[in-house]
Amino acid sequence: MKICVIAGDGIGVEVTGSCLDVLKTLHCDFDFVFADAGLGCYRKHGTYLPEDTVEKIKTCSATLFGAVTTDYSNDYKSPVLTMRKNLGLYANLRIIKSLHSRCMKNMDIVVVRENTEGIYVQRERGKNRVIAENVVSKKASERIIKFGFEYARINKRKKITCVHKANVLKKSDGMFRRIFYEIADGYNINADDCLVDACAMHLIKNPEKFDVIVTMNLYGDILSDEAAALVGGLGFVPGANIGEDYMIFEPAHGSAPDIAGKGIANPTAMIMSGGMMLEYLGMNKESNIIEKALRNVFEKGVFTPDVNGKHGTKRFTKEVIGEIKQLI
Ligand code: NAD
Repeated sequence: MKICVIAGDGIGVEVTGSCLDVLKTLHCDFDFVFADAGLGCYRKHGTYLPEDTVEKIKTCSATLFGAVTTDYSNDYKSPVLTMRKNLGLYANLRIIKSLHSRCMKNMDIVVVRENTEGIYVQRERGKNRVIAENVVSKKASERIIKFGFEYARINKRKKITCVHKANVLKKSDGMFRRIFYEIADGYNINADDCLVDACAMHLIKNPEKFDVIVTMNLYGDILSDEAAALVGGLGFVPGANIGEDYMIFEPAHGSAPDIAGKGIANPTAMIMSGGMMLEYLGMNKESNIIEKALRNVFEKGVFTPDVNGKHGTKRFTKEVIGEIKQLI
């Protein structure tokens, strides 16, 4: 199988290295096809997302993506948003799970986020009074809500919650909420809904209220970062962008310029994203080994500095690899 690897910028490069070392230890029969994107790529090649990178993604079974740095210049076109839109990666999955003792216990929430619409269409106009379009279509809403229910069914999840702001955005979010209950009728899964502001509070106060959350683009972006804090931070939350034809696996975090180059990034989210990729490629056994190895190293007190640990990225990865070797 060919796997496209886009390390990107900042800690994206560091954590992707860890993830590849882990996959190689598992003896997965992968050919890694390396591709470029991001700010470093722009400085080298004059583009944030070369055509060649998109072609490589299309010819591989899956893609691993580190993270890229946003360039706040006017002609910046986000490679992340471009890939999600142009490759039809309509579902964004983030898994917020307690893997260790230095965080809230028994957290296991999946955020299923619509990945192609909302304000991320980036259509802003005006100068002193700026209008940003918030696109919500029936088609994309149905597609993501069905994805959420199917995810819940296949993974034997007990409940699914629709998060929205339909009390204010009656037409757009109201439609999303209505479609949610229409689709819920076809499933034997406990379904409820919650306003996004209340959801932000409940996630901190009683996260056990949630199992699978299906929501719109902006809310999913914010809530999944908020929920990440409950499991130790962004360094612990893996993610996936799934479409009909392609899938890209990436951690929830960005390129973290504040710690880039210091060798202290937590590679857990990226390693777990690799694990999610294995699961989607039908390699459940190997995926389970990754999670077990991570849990074992945390149990031994091996942590990166983001959760007051002493291990840098490389030493932490070495421990995980040692654990994997014991497990296989
Ligand atoms: P960020 O996720 O990069 O960092 C937020 C905070 O969390 C920082 O303090 C950082 O040090 C910490 N952190 C994140 N990941 C960590 C890890 N693995 N280990 C330890 N600490 C970690 O978000 P930001 O600072 O808002 O954004 C930085 C850059 O990344 C921006 O240019 C942003 O646009 C970009 N970004 C890219 C993506 C992506 O490529 N998918 C996603 C989010 C942000």
